[in-house]
Amino acid sequence: MPARTPHGHDDARGGGAALGPVRQRLFEHLRKHHSEVCRHWFDDIEVLGLDGANLTLLVEEPVRLSYLQRCCVPPFTAAAAAATGRLVGVKFVGERVPEAAAPAPTNVQAPSPEALFDERILLSPDYVFDTFVVGPTNRLAHAAAQAVAQKPGRSYNPFFVHGGVGLGKTHLLQAICQDMLRRDPSVRIAYISCSTFMDVFHEAVRAGRMHEFRHRFRNADVLVIDDIHFLSRHEQTQEEFFHTFNALYQGGKQLVLSSDAAPSDIPDLEERLVSRFNSGLVARIDRPAYETRVEILKAKARLHDLELPDDVPAYVAARIDANIRELEGALARLRGIAMATGQPITLELAKQAIADGRPAAGSEPAQPTIQQIIEAVTHYYDIKLSDLMSKRRHKSIALPRQVCMWLARKHTRFSLEEIGGYFGGRDHTTVMHAVRTVATRSQSDPALGSDVARIEQVLTRGEA
Ligand code: ADP
Ligand code: MG
Repeated sequence: MPARTPHGHDDARGGGAALGPVRQRLFEHLRKHHSEVCRHWFDDIEVLGLDGANLTLLVEEPVRLSYLQRCCVPPFTAAAAAATGRLVGVKFVGERVPEAAAPAPTNVQAPSPEALFDERILLSPDYVFDTFVVGPTNRLAHAAAQAVAQKPGRSYNPFFVHGGVGLGKTHLLQAICQDMLRRDPSVRIAYISCSTFMDVFHEAVRAGRMHEFRHRFRNADVLVIDDIHFLSRHEQTQEEFFHTFNALYQGGKQLVLSSDAAPSDIPDLEERLVSRFNSGLVARIDRPAYETRVEILKAKARLHDLELPDDVPAYVAARIDANIRELEGALARLRGIAMATGQPITLELAKQAIADGRPAAGSEPAQPTIQQIIEAVTHYYDIKLSDLMSKRRHKSIALPRQVCMWLARKHTRFSLEEIGGYFGGRDHTTVMHAVRTVATRSQSDPALGSDVARIEQVLTRGEA
């Protein structure tokens, strides 16, 4: 792919005549050699100054600033050396403050425990409303998310969004957080994944610091918990969460939750939580239709400043329909091949990238298909395929079937629903149960542990 200059305003963003060319070379180098980190909004980065030690870049938006500090220092340093012909460091700053008066930059590269709750570190600048493509299968969830961000605590409370893997739940949750922060930078948002919430809770119990834990969560204006289905079967955390929920809810604070299943389909979730979750708005996201997939591919290409001829998204969207993460994978593969071969992206290249299959040329480890998983498992346990796919519940069949589901969940990107459908029309709670059983038992039962390890070895070596 030919290196391109950021659209237009080099001089305006380049801090005067001397820095304009530096800026241009900097971004040319990044686009050519580090396209994976590049984003469309790099156009807004301003070069503030260049001295003996540092190239200073201004990024006022906090989530973007944090992304650059976390993920982009090494590539920018390489690009700065190429652009200036000198060995300089790169400093990202959030304000146009004169050097001497500037406060010491906060070290966001090694998050402290408190920083675990710093939403700027957890949020991705990619996950905003602007980049979320709306279609028939996510329209309600999107509209509700926007309403919630505009009027926290006053539109839909709680807001509960559910759907399969890779369909945009985390994206929507983060978009809500970022929109709220943009409207009111002082809003106290606690954004956390359910598994981190549980870890923090257990740690607080162990260390006798429940007071701090409660203070932290019950003083938030907005509590956003991703993947709340992980609460399943954790009675003690459910109990604590129930009280957190009530305290916030009664205080008129907004609660936002995501899950891979509807509230009543989360196994072993206390009834009182189910009814709390159902008391607000429950929105479901389904797999996107073809037109939406095309639009999503175009949006992702714009985000990464990739030029795609129209027939490419049409072709890719027709062939990949599992979920959006797979679409992104295909786009990343395309970009990789284009970069490696120095060719522009064309339909021919797209055909090649998709025909080459899931594993990107040489880089990622081989990802087994569900057929390979089934082959490996039936071979290992010496059982018949027809038995595996049947409704039989005998232990000699049920366990291998659970192992299949666990492997499919771990190594493919199919949702629980899809895996259940594949294995004889079982519902997603059966799959979830299978996944948890194998995960837990393979830890406690060495025989099962070594069985699954051996099957995995066969699969990842591609010998299935
Ligand atoms: P989930 O949390 O449901 O598993 P994510 O929110 O992580 O899924 O989404 C997976 C990827 O797909 C993300 O990169 C996200 O940006 C993208 N994505 C999902 N839905 C959309 C959409 N409607 N428009 C644009 N990108 C989307
Ligand atoms: Mg998610």
